[in-house]
Amino acid sequence: MKNTYLIAILLLCCLISCTQQEKQSSEWKAKHVILIGIDAWGAYSMNKANIPNIRSLMANGSYNLKKRSVLPSSSAPNWASMYMGAGPELHGYCEWGSQIPDLPSRITNTDKIFPTIFSVLREAVPDAEIGNICEWNGIRYLVDTLSLNYDKHVFEAEKDSSATVRYAVNYIKERKPTFLNIVYDALDHTGHAVGHDTPGYYTKLEEIDGYIGEIIAAIKEAGIWDETIIIVTADHGGIKNNHGGRTMEEMETPFIISGPNIKSNFEMPESMMQFDIAPTIGYIFGLKSPQVWIGRPMTSAFK
Ligand SMILES: [Zn+2]
Repeated sequence: MKNTYLIAILLLCCLISCTQQEKQSSEWKAKHVILIGIDAWGAYSMNKANIPNIRSLMANGSYNLKKRSVLPSSSAPNWASMYMGAGPELHGYCEWGSQIPDLPSRITNTDKIFPTIFSVLREAVPDAEIGNICEWNGIRYLVDTLSLNYDKHVFEAEKDSSATVRYAVNYIKERKPTFLNIVYDALDHTGHAVGHDTPGYYTKLEEIDGYIGEIIAAIKEAGIWDETIIIVTADHGGIKNNHGGRTMEEMETPFIISGPNIKSNFEMPESMMQFDIAPTIGYIFGLKSPQVWIGRPMTSAFK
């Protein structure tokens, strides 16, 4: 008899928990978010680049081509700001390749790192499927790997540039992630080697656009297209063979967001900063931003 009561109570708990989760995700703007970051993709390139997949996301979504990088316009400070909802003054990652904060993070979470969109989502939704696939290992110091289900540094991408998309396609189809971060690094290498705004730069950008087409196809094949918001953006741009400085070619990068509950063909008029990305993803999942975040959700993109 005692066992019957126990089983009944367990079933009731399970039912309540399932109902809560369903209620929670029914209030989300989308059930899945795929964030695609392209290192060193300057907004200046939008006038010339032949990037049909990115342009189709713009036509079906919202965009801001004047999103500003934090200073310096270097990689780690800007990837950190993207994931951490605040600038270097607060998260402390100040140099291009910072793996630990150069000044103390204003606060840290239980994983001993400044709160990231990955950890905030994990805390609110313990059973969320969260992944990270990156070509530059430096990203792994900024995402809070302890909050991830899947964490892949594609070390072979330097020799095999299509490796990253293969991991992304497999992961999307197999796990249908709640949140997946994919970071392309190769365009930054091209910018340093042959220069920004050169034919070689556009060739590499167009190649990455092709991979984005493959990711879109995988989302459709996984049967989650109608429930997925895709974001394509960058950490910084560049000028000549470099970045890190204060020209607008280095500091302005595109932000494109497309999917359910997002306005079509809409140019977001508001000012947008690098650290507004984490709160915007948080807004999709109904997450409360940590007090230390200073970024704002870009609500004008939403219907
Ligand atoms: Zn970079």
